Amino acid sequence: MIDETGEGVQRSASGTDCSEALLRVYEYLDGELGPDECAKIQAHLDECGPCLKEYDLDTTLKALVKRSCECEQAPDALRTTIMSRISMTVIQVDGF
Ligand SMILES: [Zn+2]
Repeated sequence: MIDETGEGVQRSASGTDCSEALLRVYEYLDGELGPDECAKIQAHLDECGPCLKEYDLDTTLKALVKRSCECEQAPDALRTTIMSRISMTVIQVDGF
């Protein structure tokens, strides 16, 4: 007997599948997830490029920048990524 129930579900090493990550990414952005759930989503996005593209990195960055300005909750690594991205943009604009 062949059981095909698991077909089509991708599970990453972090144990979060893509559909779950994409569903929860909005709760993640809204700050509705607890620290554990946040870490799971972040870990999945870290290792899953397709998901990162799927939910639009730019939108996410804007939301995170906004939040980190409001209440300083963005983790240091994330803030560093955002800030280097912003300064890269500024340098590019300055270059012209
Ligand atoms: Zn994924």
